[in-house]
Amino acid sequence: MITQEQILLALREVEHPAKDRDILSLGIVEGVDITDDKVTITLGFQGRDPLTDYLIAACKSAVKRVAPQCETEVRTILKERKPTKKQTGLELGMDEIEHIGKIVAVSSGKGGVGKSTVAVNLAIALARLGYKVGLADADVYGPSVPKMTGTEGMIPDSEDELILPIEKYGVKWMSIGYFAQPGQALIWRGPMACNALKQLILQVRWGELDFLLIDLPPGTGDIHISLVHDIPLSGAIIVTTPQDVALSDAEKGVNMFRNENIRKPIYGLVENMAWFTPAELPENRYYIFGKDGGKKMADQYGIDLLGQIPIVQSIREGGDAGTPAALNDGPDGKAFLDLGKKLLDKCGY
Ligand code: ADP
Repeated sequence: MITQEQILLALREVEHPAKDRDILSLGIVEGVDITDDKVTITLGFQGRDPLTDYLIAACKSAVKRVAPQCETEVRTILKERKPTKKQTGLELGMDEIEHIGKIVAVSSGKGGVGKSTVAVNLAIALARLGYKVGLADADVYGPSVPKMTGTEGMIPDSEDELILPIEKYGVKWMSIGYFAQPGQALIWRGPMACNALKQLILQVRWGELDFLLIDLPPGTGDIHISLVHDIPLSGAIIVTTPQDVALSDAEKGVNMFRNENIRKPIYGLVENMAWFTPAELPENRYYIFGKDGGKKMADQYGIDLLGQIPIVQSIREGGDAGTPAALNDGPDGKAFLDLGKKLLDKCGY
């Protein structure tokens, strides 16, 4: 049985000849549905595209290559043009993210499961693997990237109305936390928070990147839905811990990305705090929050388990000290490098 991921990978090979980029990263693919032996692809265009027929044919032959047994239907829809002026009065165009290969949301159903820890360490791991990486910390409720990366108190410069990211550990960082006084709670709510977050992603001089990770706020509320709808995400990673309460919140995350108005691929689940390993007994595993909860959930929803990260003291200490564990060569660093490699695989890099 062919999977949605396989079809998406095949569609990545379909280039828009006038734009020199593939139709997935251009945000043209609105959805892929598979029922039995039929694949239905929905392409969305803002206005009339003279190459529509060419792209339909190219999609059909891309599917034929990976799933010759399947019948393919390609539907087209006309998308509403996005307004270029937002409530902030600033232009929030897509120019700054034009040169980004993959925009990947890191999300969690609830707070405290280690979403930011995973996002920061994954960013560093991908950079260590030789990729150009940026991370936008959009966790308006608790921006932790400045502290976790030892960049607290730094104030980003700006140039031509664009914010310049802070560079450290080979990654370009941007966080809403750079614009708040330490200890000061951000009280943005609703549309204001949403606009600020979009600005934090779209008005940053990222330059050329292979990956932009977005550390989303925990949960699946209106802000999330608006963000994941408006930002041209390539896909999402969901972080959970193995216990039932966390898993049921993570399920809401799965449903959000699979919602028919959102439909973004889920690259996989990361089970954080999968077991505890004391430094002095590196072979021992204690399943404090239950065993394989994330793995079972991933199986149930038909998504990949990208990684299981143990509870290790050095991961917590690295986060508090601004020197993330992914910089290490020990097993803690390796856990994140392995996660990075899995993501590369999923993205077809
Ligand atoms: P979230 O972003 O989901 O709210 P954080 O990433 O801020 O969660 O993590 C919450 C706390 O748990 C932090 O103190 C962090 O250092 C710690 N933590 C996260 N993952 C691990 C881990 N695998 N091992 C040890 N401590 C961890």
